[in-house]
Amino acid sequence: MNNQPFIRGEPPKSIYPLQTCLPAYRPQVVSAWLKQLPTPGGIILFPFGGSPQVVLEAARSGYQILTPVHNPILRFLIESLAHPPSKEELGSALAKLASSYKGKERLQPLILSLYETDCPQCGEKTSASSFTWSRITQEPVQKTCRCSRCGEDTQGAVSSDDIQKALDFQENSPTHARALTRVAAPDDPIRFQVENALGSYTPRSVYALFTVLNKLTGSNLPAEETNLLEILLLHAFYRCSQPLDPLGQDDEIDEFYREENVWFALEETLDIWCGEEDSLPITTWPTLPPQSGGICLFPGRIRELIPQLSDIQLQSVVMVFPKPTPSFWALSALWTGWLWGQEAAAPLRSILSIKKFDWPWLTKAIELTLSEIHEILPSGIPCFGLLPEIEIKSLLAAVSAASRAGYKLDKIALDPDLLLGETYWVSQKGIFDLKPSSDYRELIRTAGFNLLQEAGEPKHTLSIYGTGMISLVAEGFPGKDQDPDQYFPQLLKDYEDNIAYRQGFLHYPDSENWWHQELKPSSSPQSDMVEQQIVELLVKTNNPIPERDIFQHIYQNFPTQLTPREGLILACLESYAQITPGLISSWQLKPNEDPGRRVKDLAEIEHQLLEIGEELGYTVNKKSAPGRVIHLQWEKNGSSQSSFFISASGLLGRLLEEQKNSADTRWIILPGSRAGLIHYKLKQNPPLSEIIEQGWGLVKFRHIRRLAEVRGPNFLDRLDLDPFQSDSPQLPLI
Ligand SMILES: [Zn+2]
Repeated sequence: MNNQPFIRGEPPKSIYPLQTCLPAYRPQVVSAWLKQLPTPGGIILFPFGGSPQVVLEAARSGYQILTPVHNPILRFLIESLAHPPSKEELGSALAKLASSYKGKERLQPLILSLYETDCPQCGEKTSASSFTWSRITQEPVQKTCRCSRCGEDTQGAVSSDDIQKALDFQENSPTHARALTRVAAPDDPIRFQVENALGSYTPRSVYALFTVLNKLTGSNLPAEETNLLEILLLHAFYRCSQPLDPLGQDDEIDEFYREENVWFALEETLDIWCGEEDSLPITTWPTLPPQSGGICLFPGRIRELIPQLSDIQLQSVVMVFPKPTPSFWALSALWTGWLWGQEAAAPLRSILSIKKFDWPWLTKAIELTLSEIHEILPSGIPCFGLLPEIEIKSLLAAVSAASRAGYKLDKIALDPDLLLGETYWVSQKGIFDLKPSSDYRELIRTAGFNLLQEAGEPKHTLSIYGTGMISLVAEGFPGKDQDPDQYFPQLLKDYEDNIAYRQGFLHYPDSENWWHQELKPSSSPQSDMVEQQIVELLVKTNNPIPERDIFQHIYQNFPTQLTPREGLILACLESYAQITPGLISSWQLKPNEDPGRRVKDLAEIEHQLLEIGEELGYTVNKKSAPGRVIHLQWEKNGSSQSSFFISASGLLGRLLEEQKNSADTRWIILPGSRAGLIHYKLKQNPPLSEIIEQGWGLVKFRHIRRLAEVRGPNFLDRLDLDPFQSDSPQLPLI
């Protein structure tokens, strides 16, 4: 348990329902964590029901999950995906819808005709797949068509007919009024927020969606059919909505937005909502799912659930920490009302009326939820906290809230490349050592400095902030007497003031990395050690190694704050190994990277440099050098002129030490296959890059070989002609 390193998981195989509204889902993370829980049996509580995919994966891997899900849309999503419809089922529901009538017209041609336009390519009449609108002019400006004659997506400017057709639908129509009233009555105080949410649809979309919705609300369908129609509609509601507010507070909202064709959105449901998975047991509290795995949904708030949990044996708590997503909640209220009416939407009223749905508010909400669970949790229970799409604010909010709720932070591991943070917690009774006199700013600085010193190279902002949080909560932060409204903005400011230039920290915006001016690049920085371990593993194992085993091996050796970025591990693999074909992605050492062959390469280059040097009248001396590196020095008249370091690896750190033992002109001779890796390392490590740029030249093996063929007096001038940074074949300028 204690050695649990970062879990990388896998990229999602396909698009999942409501994807852009939900926290990014990384498969095979939560199940990997659950698998190493010490005691089998018991319920796993997911207090934040905002990530249906994670809950479903946990249940499918054989655990009994209990989760309060307050939002009816998310509940519906979990229920639907636990028994995913087959393409046949959903397809026949869509076909039935297509051939149903509105008045005398069939539904499909009617909806398609709302978007009828001339194909920009051939002029044929077709139904546009989308229109792009300008927020400024409030009119469509561009259309995308896939006409039956051309077959391809073509874009073109809209005609005056297209604009007129779009503007024929107005916000004061009876449909619009109905779209509001299905969620909130005209005199309802939250009507304003509902109107706001409705602004994420064009009036034409509202008309089209409600024409289809009438088929659901206006007839008495069997339960099975109702459910399939609800799935189709929910997907269309989602696809046809526009973002109401930017996701991050600093993001600007785009000037343009797309109006999707409602019928095509309905058709798309088949590709996104259907699945082949076995049906997963779903129960409603207090009925528990079977021990073989399933989900128990509590259709309310965690606060109402907790008093009922006294007889339940909780095995663990898994927190997918939420982010403030007011627009998703507003849309959820809209969709709930549309599908199931005002009463069903009522539980979302309180969320709609929150005025400041910001980070301090959310921090407080997380803390309240977690402290209520903590009350009933025995001590020593391991808990897992996921931070999807991790950013500074979500990191600070989650760690401070859970700590203040009484959980002991065990470790944080994160990868800025995957934008994934993983936090490990243990429940404990009583409050651990509070040291209210601690100087939090000092702790932030020291933790950041120590991490950089340990890594021996720059680290990402999230890693620096994360390591600071570990120190802070170990010293009792945030303390009992402060509210998130006070401490959250102060904490952000403390970080900004202390991980800052005036405290000696150097920021590199290109990589979002930091370094400290009192530190010197290490001779064995972490990235060099990662490279070394990957090579050792590849050499030791002759067979292809599954990629996940390689990552696991490296994460084991570089745990928590030192978790290497995915980009570094991949750069190392691409430099030394090749992917082998097969079901599981595996890597094998490239034949020319075999250590025996590399030893021969080194000897060959050494021999060539010896010959050329002597030919040019130098005395060539072999000096001592670290590892297998060969250091040749060319000397003339008793003074050293040039130093050549021949190396098979990309470990540059250890050569920095040699600066004082070498001639003024220094060259590092490397295999060309290191170019990508070196490029990556130098980009992540500007201080190292600067040292190399000022005092060293990088040359490829192949360049030495070419020069050895040509020879000639101006050898040293030609060393620069095949720049190392790019591996593109250069013209033979020599
Ligand atoms: Zn066409």
